[in-house]
This record gives sequence, structure tokens and C-alpha cells, in this order.
Amino acid sequence: MADYQLLIDGELCDSASGQTFETYNPAKNEKIAEIAKGGTEDAVRAIEAARKAFDEGPWPKLSGSERAEKLRAIAQLINDNANELAELESLDSGGTIRKSQLADIPGAAQAFTWFAQMAEERPDKADLPVAVFPQSTNYALYEPLGVCTGIIPWNFPFIMLSWKIAPALAAGNVSIIKPATYTSITALKLAQLITEADLLPPAVLQVIAGPGSTVGEELAANPLVDKVAFTGSTEVGRRIMQLASGTVKPVTLELGGKSANIVLDDADLDQASAAVLWGTFFHGGQVCESGTRALVDKKIYDELVGILADKAGKIQLGDQMDFMTDIGPLVNRIQVETAERYCALGREEVGEPICGGGRPEGLPEGLDVNAYFQPTIFTDVPNSSKIAQEEIFGPVLCVIPFSSDDEAVAIANDSIYGLAGGVQSSNLERAEAVAAKMRTGTVWINDYHMISPDRPFGGYKQSGIGRELGTFGYDVYRQVKHVHVNPETSGRDNHIQYSALSSNI
Ligand code: NAP
Ligand code: MG
Repeated sequence: MADYQLLIDGELCDSASGQTFETYNPAKNEKIAEIAKGGTEDAVRAIEAARKAFDEGPWPKLSGSERAEKLRAIAQLINDNANELAELESLDSGGTIRKSQLADIPGAAQAFTWFAQMAEERPDKADLPVAVFPQSTNYALYEPLGVCTGIIPWNFPFIMLSWKIAPALAAGNVSIIKPATYTSITALKLAQLITEADLLPPAVLQVIAGPGSTVGEELAANPLVDKVAFTGSTEVGRRIMQLASGTVKPVTLELGGKSANIVLDDADLDQASAAVLWGTFFHGGQVCESGTRALVDKKIYDELVGILADKAGKIQLGDQMDFMTDIGPLVNRIQVETAERYCALGREEVGEPICGGGRPEGLPEGLDVNAYFQPTIFTDVPNSSKIAQEEIFGPVLCVIPFSSDDEAVAIANDSIYGLAGGVQSSNLERAEAVAAKMRTGTVWINDYHMISPDRPFGGYKQSGIGRELGTFGYDVYRQVKHVHVNPETSGRDNHIQYSALSSNI
């Protein structure tokens, strides 16, 4: 039996093939557990069980407040097990325990609580304007979509699963989740906790770990699935759209980014430098909305660059399980190699970085240096260079000078992505004018990374389709049905429009 099993049709189980895969703590290259390795057969079984649970089971028939009660119970279960979940999340993903305890686990519980509120508060019916002649009453009914699948990445495993499961269940759908292969543990742990607490009817929530190429493809393509929500790379996002198009399923896509954090000449440099460093190096830069392009006004450029280099040198790399560590290992060696490759490219394109640029020295004993990468800053980077255009997903910052607010906006918008961005300034009116011109799904003024379940999140351009969170993130899990009622149940006076076909009928 695998250490962590799949949840299919109300039961924790091994995969049909009996295969497992190993998951590692990247900091020490140490095996943590054996995970059941789902395949296409498991995905199909889960989809069929989900179809039945939606079409015949009790869940979609519950009232919004009954569903809200269950979601709040899940939030409570997460809070009751927060320490264990935070530890597992950090061990498996390399994210710091500080991040898991302060952001990931409570953030996921908050998402369940927010969508519980949505289930209670968002109306299931909305009246439409009454027509006098021909007379009718009209209204819209909001209904769940059905079987919703969620495919999630490794960078924020627990938060991401909450963003997929909570709105789907809140709106009366059933949900199947595939975690990323590198970080499956906490999704399977939550499945186990919910099953043991007997919180949901069978097949309302199912979790299948396994490869994207088998489980993921089935969850996106199977005709019995009604909606796919995906977070991950733009490349796989395109594939998901193709697979979903076979049966014209709606998709929500949260994809890559290369966000611009604009520092205007009137910014407080202490605050702005903190916003730039936090905006880029939080979680080793493995954040889709990271502000990896810092655009800095030439008037303050030299001074700010000096402060950035000085402060970046104080960021502590170490064991992610130590609460004092700022950046842990990257999720795996592949990410380290990617960062390294881009740094080599950056050296060719713009020269030596002002700090970092390689694997760190002097890590505490027992940590594998091959899992770590130093916070790295390239300066005077042309926006057209590859390191400024391509997503690196590691701790690499490009600093780009500009001469006017309009030029800053033009550089910020010169990207295939549009996920997020920042404006740092002491003049809020000026900052908001810049924010209004940025073609991106979120802008933080004098801040960064401030995501909350009650505010919409998502991308412009190739950063995605649709929004998660907020009220919008609830409504995309619902169908709209228009009902037209002619109160005349007999007679023809009200029906002259039939003559649009023929005056003889
Ligand atoms: P990824 O390779 O796109 O994988 C994401 C998920 O898709 C994983 O669960 C993966 O499974 C699965 N998958 C892979 N190939 C698939 C296929 N052909 N069909 C269906 N599913 C498939 O991304 P990642 O490497 O995990 O994450 C890093 C990327 O995600 C970055 O580019 C980042 O920008 C983006 N990201 C975006 C957001 C956002 O909100 N916009 C948030 C986080 C990350 P396996 O793990 O088994 O391969
Ligand atoms: Mg792992």
C-alpha cells in the first residue's frame, strides 16, 4: 500500500496498476514517501463516479447554506491540522515553513470560508426586466456546471487546490483534482482527512496523483467532464485548451508571467526596494505573478540598484524547515538548472549580474547545494532580451531603466504576458494613473503579492483566461439558464410574434 493513496468514489485506494512513485525533500534529496501513481484508468473511474455523483447524488440538490456548512467544516479541518499540513507542504515543495504556516495553510482555509460565503450570498435566481407586450416574465437561474476538474502546479500546491476545489463545491459541482507530481502529498493528505471525517458524499471530491500526460490529459479531454481549471505553464495551458475543445468545455487558465514592478522617481527607496525584493525573491521566484522585471526611473536608478544589491545579500538561504530561512531549496534540480541556464544567457546578453548568479556557498551542513540558487540581479537589461521576456521561475531579477512614466508603461506592456505588476510611488494619484494603463490582471501599488480570496486574480494576454477568486471566481463555476414565462396559457392575443413564421398558424 502506498503511503499516500488516491481518493476515488469515496474510498482511499492504490492505483489500478498498483504503481507508486517517490517524492523527495529537495533540500536534502531525501525520500519522503511513496505515492500511489494514478493513470488513465483511475482518471476514467473517477470521472464516471463524479458524473454519477452529480447527476444522481445529493450534493447539487443541497441549498447554498447547506453546502456552505460543509465548506466551513473543511476550513475547520484544515485549521485543526495546520501544523502537520504546513510541515508536509514545506518538506515536499521546498517552500519555507514560514510561508506554509503564515500563507499557504491559513490561505487555503480562507478560500474555503470565502466560497462558503459565496454559496450563501450569491443569488441562485435573478429577475430580468418584465416585458409588457408581448407580455412575459423572465428570469435567470444559476446552476452548477457539473463535473469540474482541476489541474494544479507545484509552486503553491495547497493554496492552488483550495482555489480549484472550494468554488467548484460551493457552486454545487463535483470536483476532481490532479496535484503536480513533485508535490502531491498535501492534496492527498486533505483527501484523507476529509474522508476520515466523512464530510462529503462519495465522489463529490476526488484526488488523483499521477502524470500530466495520462491523468491530466484525461481530466481535460474526457467528454463527461464539464469544466477544466488549470494553473501551470502557458505551454501546457495551450494543450489543455486543445483537449477541452473536443467537447467545448469552458476552461479557466492561470498561466505564466513576467510582471513589471515600476518604481517611480518619487518612491520611498527603502519601501520600494523591499517591494522589489519581496516581489521577486519570495519563494525563490517560483511565483507566477513575481515582479521579475523591476522598471526603475533613471533619476533614482543608481541609488536604488545599490540598495537592492546590499539588501539582496542579506537574504538567508537555508533549510526550509527552519523558521528563520528566507529562501529554501527550489522545488527540484530542474528548476536550479533552468535558473543557471538563464543566468548564462544573461551574462551573454547583458554582462555579469550585480549579485548572485550561481549556487550558494556556505549552506548549513546536510543541505544539498544543487537544490539552491542565489538571489540574482541583472541590471541595465534591455526589455527585448530573452532574460526580460521569458519566464525563468527562479530567483532572477532584471532591472530596466526608464525616463518617463509613459515609457515605463510601454516597457511593462511589451510582454506576451499580463498577469500582475506593481507601482511604487509616494504619489497615489500618479501611481493609479500608471496602474490604469498597465495591461495586466492585478496591480499592487506600494505593495506586492497581496492576493486574497475576496479579490479577483488572473491574467491578460497569454497569462490566462478567466479569473479565480472574488465573486467572479464563484460565478465561473455556474451556468446561466434564462427562463421565459408567458402568463397566457391559452388564446392567441399575446402571440402575434408567431406570425414571424406564417400568418396561417
Ligand atoms: P506545468 O508543467 O504546466 O504543470 C502544471 C500541471 O499540469 C501539473 O499538475 C502537471 O502534471 C500537469 N500537466 C503537465 N502536462 C500535462 C498535459 N499534457 N495535460 C494535462 N496536464 C498536464 O507547470 P509546472 O511546471 O508545474 O509549474 C510552473 C509553471 O506554472 C510556471 O510556468 C508558472 O508560471 C505557472 N504558474 C502559473 C500560476 C498562475 O496562477 N498563473 C500559478 C502557478 C504556476 P505533472 O506534475 O505530472 O507534470
Ligand atoms: Mg517533493
